[in-house]
Amino acid sequence: MPKKTKKKKKAVFPKKKKVGRPRKIGTKKRTAWGVKRKKTSQQQKKQEDGFKIKEEAQILRGMNDIYGEDIMYWQYTLKKMVDLSERYGFNQIIVPVLERLFLFEKSAGITSDVVEKQMYTFRDRSGNKVVLRPEFTPSVVRAYIETGMFNLPQPVKLYYFGPLFRYERPQAGRSRQFHQFGIEVIGSEKPLIDAQLILFSQTLFNSLDIKASIQINSLGCEECRKSYRSRLVQYFKFKKRWLCEDCKKRLSKNPLRIFDCQKETCQKFTRQAPQLVDYLCEDCQRHFVKTLEYLDEINVVYEFNPYLVRGLDYYTRTVFEFWPDREIQKKSKKQRQRSLILERLGAQVALGGGGRYDNVVESLGGLSTPATGLSYGMERIIDEIKKQEVKITRPRSPQIFFTHVGEKASRRALKIFNELQKEKFKIAENFAKDSLRQQLEKANKLHVKLALILGQEETRNSTIIIRDMNTGNQEVIDQKKLVNELRKRLR
Ligand SMILES: [Zn+2]
Ligand SMILES: [Zn+2]
Repeated sequence: MPKKTKKKKKAVFPKKKKVGRPRKIGTKKRTAWGVKRKKTSQQQKKQEDGFKIKEEAQILRGMNDIYGEDIMYWQYTLKKMVDLSERYGFNQIIVPVLERLFLFEKSAGITSDVVEKQMYTFRDRSGNKVVLRPEFTPSVVRAYIETGMFNLPQPVKLYYFGPLFRYERPQAGRSRQFHQFGIEVIGSEKPLIDAQLILFSQTLFNSLDIKASIQINSLGCEECRKSYRSRLVQYFKFKKRWLCEDCKKRLSKNPLRIFDCQKETCQKFTRQAPQLVDYLCEDCQRHFVKTLEYLDEINVVYEFNPYLVRGLDYYTRTVFEFWPDREIQKKSKKQRQRSLILERLGAQVALGGGGRYDNVVESLGGLSTPATGLSYGMERIIDEIKKQEVKITRPRSPQIFFTHVGEKASRRALKIFNELQKEKFKIAENFAKDSLRQQLEKANKLHVKLALILGQEETRNSTIIIRDMNTGNQEVIDQKKLVNELRKRLR
C-alpha cells in the first residue's frame, strides 16, 4: 500500500526574533526584515525560468535511465519471454501509451488503488481526459473489441511489452515508469487455459534460472463474491474501530481490498477472516478444482493462498502471483507458510501475476467474453536475476578491430567497414581517433583476435594488413581476399 507521497515540510524558526507562529519556508517570500513584499512580474519570471532549467536538466523522480550492463540483462530477459510466447502461439500487440481515462475507470474499477491514487491523468489540447496507461489489460481488451478480433478463431492469444506509469512513492521495486511483459488469452473460459498460463510462468522462470513460488487463489464470480462480501462485512463489523482509516473506507466500498492492506493492525484481522474459497458457487468451485488438478497433473508446484486478492477489481475466478523464492527456501514448511502470509512478502515484491477477467470485455462494450492473462514486472525480474546471481549469456564480443592511418585511408575506411559488416562480421573501430596507437589501445581493451590496419600504402595498392593480436604477426593481403581470409582465421 503506498503511503502518503507528500513529505512533511519542516517548520523553520526564525533565528533572532520569534514573532508569533513559526514560519514555513517556501510558501511565502519574506525579506530580511520579515516584511511581505509582492514579487514583481520580472522577478517572478526570473524564478520561473530558473525552475525551468532545473526541470529540463534533471530526470523526474521515480523515472530511470536504463543503460550499460543493464541493457544486457534486459535483452536477455526479453528475448526469453518473446521466444517462449511465440512457441506458445502468442502474437505481439503494440498498444498506445496514452489512453482515455474512461477506459481504466471502467475496467479496473474506481475503488482500486491504481485508479484512485496512482494515475497520471491530464487533459490533452482538445480537452479529452487522458491517462498514461497504468496497466496493459484494458488497452488490449479495447483493441480486441475495436479491431474486431472477436471475428478471429477464438481464443485470441496476444503478448505485449512496454512502459507503464503509476504515480506512487518511488522505492525499491517501485518506480513511476516501469515495464511489463505480459500475455492475454481472450475468448475461453476453460480452466485448462488457466493452468497453461501458470505452466508458461514456471517454464519461463526455469529458463531464466530464477526460483519463484506460485501463489494461487480463486476469487469466484459476481454471484459467489456477493455472499462472501456480506459475510466479510459482518466479520469486520465489530472490529471496525481497530482498522486503519483506509480500511474503514474499504469496508463500505470494497471490503475485499482490506486483504491488500500492509498495516500490521489490519493484517491481524485479515488472517482470521473467513476465506472466499469457502463461499465459491458450484461452477466456480469446479473451475478452481479443475485448474489445480491440471497443475498437479503436470507437476507444477504451487501454493494455495486464500488471502491473495490482487490489486484490481476486475479479476474473477483464478488469480495468481509469483513471489521471489530466496528467503522462503531456507525456512521449514510451517515457517514458510507463516512467513508468506504474515510478511506479505509477495505484495511488496511480486515478480508478476495475473488471473481471469471474465467480465472486462463486456464491461468495455464487447460481447460477453471470458478471458485470462498475466504479466511480469521487467525491473523486478531483472533485479531477481541479479540477486539470485544467475549467469546470463553475454552478447558476442567483436573479434575484429578496424584501424586506418592517414587522410586517404580514412576515405576508404567506411567502405571496407561497410562491406565487412554486410558479411555479418562484428567489427569494432575507433574512427574518432587519428593515431594508430590510440586506435589500437581500444583494440587491446576489447581483447579482439585480429586487427586490420589500412595505411596510405595499403590504400594505394588496394591491400590491407591483418595483425594477429595474440602473436603480433602481421600479413599484407589483397582487399579482395579479405572476407575469405577473415572467415578462415575466425573459424
Ligand atoms: Zn461463482
Ligand atoms: Zn488497513
